[in-house]
Amino acid sequence: MSDVKKTEELLAKIAKLEQENAMLKRDFSSVSKGDTVSVPDAIKPLFDEAQKIVGEYFRNLKMDPTRGTIEINDQRYVLVRASALSNDFLNTIQHLYSDRGEKEALSIGKNFLFDIAHVIGMNDAKNFHQKMNLVDPIAKLSAGPVHFAYSGWAYVDIKPESTPSPDDNYYLIYNHPFSFEADSWIRSGKKSDTPVCVMNSGYSSGWCEESFGIPLTAVEVTCKAKGDEHCTFIMSPPHKIQEHVNRFTSDSKYVNKKITYDIPTFFERKKVEEEMRNARKKAEESDKAKSEFLANMSHEIRTPMNAIIGYVDLMLQDKVSREHRDYLETLKDSGKLLLNLINDILDVSKIEAGQLVIESVPHSLSDLLALKESWAKELVLKSGQTIQLIKKYSDAIADEVYIDPLRLQQILNNLLSNAIKFTNKGAIEFGVVLKDETMLEFYVKDSGIGINTKDQNKIFEMFGQVDASSTREHGGSGLGLTISKKLVEIMGGKIWVESIKGQGATFFFTLPYKPASSVKEKKAKTVKVPEVLKDRLLLVEDNLINQRLTKLILEKAGYEVITANNGQEAVDYYKTEKNIKIVIMDIQMPVLDGLSATQIIRFHEAEQKLNRTPIIALTAHAMQGDKEKCIEAGCDNYLSKPIMLDVLVNTIKKYI
Ligand code: ADP
Repeated sequence: MSDVKKTEELLAKIAKLEQENAMLKRDFSSVSKGDTVSVPDAIKPLFDEAQKIVGEYFRNLKMDPTRGTIEINDQRYVLVRASALSNDFLNTIQHLYSDRGEKEALSIGKNFLFDIAHVIGMNDAKNFHQKMNLVDPIAKLSAGPVHFAYSGWAYVDIKPESTPSPDDNYYLIYNHPFSFEADSWIRSGKKSDTPVCVMNSGYSSGWCEESFGIPLTAVEVTCKAKGDEHCTFIMSPPHKIQEHVNRFTSDSKYVNKKITYDIPTFFERKKVEEEMRNARKKAEESDKAKSEFLANMSHEIRTPMNAIIGYVDLMLQDKVSREHRDYLETLKDSGKLLLNLINDILDVSKIEAGQLVIESVPHSLSDLLALKESWAKELVLKSGQTIQLIKKYSDAIADEVYIDPLRLQQILNNLLSNAIKFTNKGAIEFGVVLKDETMLEFYVKDSGIGINTKDQNKIFEMFGQVDASSTREHGGSGLGLTISKKLVEIMGGKIWVESIKGQGATFFFTLPYKPASSVKEKKAKTVKVPEVLKDRLLLVEDNLINQRLTKLILEKAGYEVITANNGQEAVDYYKTEKNIKIVIMDIQMPVLDGLSATQIIRFHEAEQKLNRTPIIALTAHAMQGDKEKCIEAGCDNYLSKPIMLDVLVNTIKKYI
């Protein structure tokens, strides 16, 4: 065939297509000349208006099969065979889910269709309302059935009993005389035992839901595909649908022996999901309550334990016989072991309850490492092993960095004590390097027994020990590394181990590097000479054992201590005694609690134009929010009980 001929044929084809296109458009606009929806007279003007708007929207039709596009008002549409979306689809799903039985398979298929159509209905509505600038809910809703007719779903015939108000009373009863779904079943010569216009129900309820902003569902109660005279639907809020359907089935006007219906489980499933979510929330809450209980319990045990150890410590400072010294040392060691275990349990439960408060304060890393060095030396000495201890510190690190010093010490304590526990000879090296400008890398390296590759992850799990016999040999609860891992992660770092069995282990952990001072400042830093302290402190504590112990320790640290047994006594002392340098205030106390006493003191100071006296709060529950409550009440600092006495003395020194 010549090229000229080919071109002529092509042009003729295009002309024919254009002709078809023009005919389609004409047919389309001719539809809008009649009514596309049948409604009660009272609301007809609304729907006439909707017809105008939707008709306008659909008049702008472009079909271009050479590009595979059908566009209406610049939106792309797709033509789908009606039966592909109805009986063909259900057939396939029924086949796919045949193992569940015919009834359930059909119900699964219908639910799929309902969900898809419901979502399409909602989105079509949203898009149409936006495009046509519709804001009034009634105008939004009435465009639905018209749009429905234009896009080939069905013609809608709304019954006069309908009450489409945007609330719980919403009720719509309507027929679809030419539903595409029922039609596709009838044309295929198939008869269904149940209503089939599922997408119609889904789409129309989706559109109305979007228009009125309330959840809606629709149920088909009679269907032409099963031989009924009409395809009749009822639409209402999901929780009311059963009531309406019951009324319909008992209404003499509609009495029809063949009524069968399915209420789509779209909302049921949402309800189940909601129930599941609530059940999970409940489980999480009870888990949290358990952790809180554990945290409180271990705290309660910790307080008397601390008193026991504190008093043993004091007795050891006195002259005692060698035999009694031995007893006391054993008592102290056992007490400390128990306290460590309780502290670990408290930490784990606090972490699990999401109540661990992490600080970020400027602190000298080299000081902290020096402290750990002397602590570890003592431990090595006690272990009786000949282990060399090496500390490495990089000068590239700023003197002061933002960290939580207590938590960092806790991690290093765990790693160092493990290293000492699992090493008989050789060396332990620990230190910190600046990995890059944002990251510090700490390490603790030992020449001990090492850990198998397969056990290297297990040891970071709760109670994970390489083998149970190590507990007997070396002691330990198996919580240390779990806590260290959680602490490191909460502080924004990572922890891992590198080891070859029999050749020692190196534990690494990283923490974000946040310098609080420059490196240069470090050189200029002068060492503070501790002053002789003879300042007067007011200790407010209702627990007499704790009060006496804290008083003794503070006195040994060189302070004069006056005591008050509750908040009221504290306020009275405060008003009469003029030379109080610091108030140490317990929070939970009878008569007047610590927060109220603090508020009264602050009020008194303001009234009398007195200088502000530092108040350090002591609270029994180191729970989230406590710190804020203390600061809000007027405290300057906050320590959680049981008080580590060196921490208390150091805190006091900050203010004197
Ligand atoms: P604990 O030491 O209290 O048992 P950890 O969580 O600190 O608990 O340690 C868990 C286990 O990891 C230990 O029981 C031990 O089997 C192993 N482990 C920890 N550190 C080392 C180490 N430095 N060398 C060899 N094994 C170690």
